[in-house]
Amino acid sequence: MTDVESPVKQCQLCGYDMTDRDGGETCPECGSALDTRPDDQRYLQAGFIAKVLLVWAIALQILLPPVAILLAFAAAFQLAKRHDTSQYRLSYRARRDRKHANYLAFIWFVIFVAMVVISEMWPNWQFWLD
Ligand SMILES: [Zn+2]
Repeated sequence: MTDVESPVKQCQLCGYDMTDRDGGETCPECGSALDTRPDDQRYLQAGFIAKVLLVWAIALQILLPPVAILLAFAAAFQLAKRHDTSQYRLSYRARRDRKHANYLAFIWFVIFVAMVVISEMWPNWQFWLD
């Protein structure tokens, strides 16, 4: 991580730079009060790892389906980790990573279903796996 300014000084909803402001001040962009509690690093990491795993799952789904399915399961396990709202704030980056991971999971699932359908119609299309 090479963030120069503290990520806590970013609006937790829209990511607006709030460096010169105190906790509780409203964001000029979206009007929410700045939450200065620390970010949940474990939750942030889980969202990022899920994104990386799902990109690989999408890339490998056609070449190595069993590996891709394992990667998708590992990503689902990461995304199942919950955020501790009593101690940590839910940062803009954490929200964004979750949103991207959900899009990627949807793309992977569409490819997965498409491959199941194609395999039904043409059983030997993955001839390089035999
Ligand atoms: Zn904002």
